[in-house]
Amino acid sequence: MKKFVYVIGDGQLSLMLFQSGSVLGIPVIPINVKNQIKFNTILHKNSVITVEVEHWKKTKFIQKICKNNTFINRNILPLIVDRLYQKELIDKLQLPTASWIKIQKFSQWKTIFYTLGDNIILKKRTGGYNGKNQYQLSFKDKKKFNIKIYENYIAEKKINFVEEISLIGARNKFGKIVFYPITCNFHEQGILRCSIPDIKNYYLLQEKSESILSSFMRSTNYIGIIAMEFFVLKNNEIIINEISPRVHNSGHWTQNSSSINQFELHLRSILDLPMPIPKINCFSVMINIIGNYLNIAWLNDPLLCLHWYNKSISKYRKMGHINLISNHYEALKNSIITLEKKLPKQYQNCCHWLIEKLNIIQ
Ligand code: ATP
Ligand code: MG
Repeated sequence: MKKFVYVIGDGQLSLMLFQSGSVLGIPVIPINVKNQIKFNTILHKNSVITVEVEHWKKTKFIQKICKNNTFINRNILPLIVDRLYQKELIDKLQLPTASWIKIQKFSQWKTIFYTLGDNIILKKRTGGYNGKNQYQLSFKDKKKFNIKIYENYIAEKKINFVEEISLIGARNKFGKIVFYPITCNFHEQGILRCSIPDIKNYYLLQEKSESILSSFMRSTNYIGIIAMEFFVLKNNEIIINEISPRVHNSGHWTQNSSSINQFELHLRSILDLPMPIPKINCFSVMINIIGNYLNIAWLNDPLLCLHWYNKSISKYRKMGHINLISNHYEALKNSIITLEKKLPKQYQNCCHWLIEKLNIIQ
């Protein structure tokens, strides 16, 4: 019987879930959390409720949804979406993560710097994304440690990482788990700028990260797509940065180079549909377009796949993304070089990082 998938949130992730649902003939209905929909229209036995956002206002409508057994991961989501509970859970499961401390009172500042080191990052428990509500503080700025401002924050050790990677996996209710290859990610100002899956060199990190993420999914009985962001340290150890219980920006490359993209895999996993390991058909890179208008000239490149979200523009807003795909690394590099000339200056670093990565991977 056909199931209806309701998605809390109506941003670009919902849009892409909708697009993948359409291909499979699955009705996906994004819910604007500010709209009051009649509960009974969505809470029926043929509905499944999932999320594209991690933060929503606790309206009566949402509270009712959260208690309903058609809401996937309803017990575990409240723990993952609050950084404090997420960190406590990671520690409880004895998984590696950046050291942290819950902020409670001003007098703690000494212990915090003593325990975490001279450089810390203050992160708000909820409501943070794209590096928002995060502040770096060093020992010499300790006077800025204002407890009134930071009472809903945790303090985290600033990690001197070699690189940032993420792993996206999916699990269904029968316990089947599948993963995509690790993705290497480049951030600036706390915002993901571009990603590249490494399908060749990362078997060691792939194994380690899969074991950490499987352990998390099994222990929490998680269902659907989940993304785990890691810091890679000098000794090739990995520690968890954060966990996102939803489809993830660093998995957007799967839309054009994987037999099953992350949006379709999410739908398959929450609807108990077959979940084979997705086949990666070609090499790819993903570039986020942040705070810029669409330039039709980009479309002259046959390797370029554009995903545009049709949102109103603002400086740090993710407006769309570009996937470049090819069977040849050289062709991908040439595409990036050509695209860089058509992009504003601020994309230089990300294009250069991608070329460097391609040089290492190939
Ligand atoms: P997202 O957009 O992924 O939801 P976010 O706002 O939730 O991001 P984080 O992933 O915690 O925030 O941090 C954003 C970026 O800031 C990281 O990708 C990393 O580049 C940097 N960062 C965060 N925490 C640390 C840390 N402890 N040490 C060093 N860099 C960090
Ligand atoms: Mg992050």
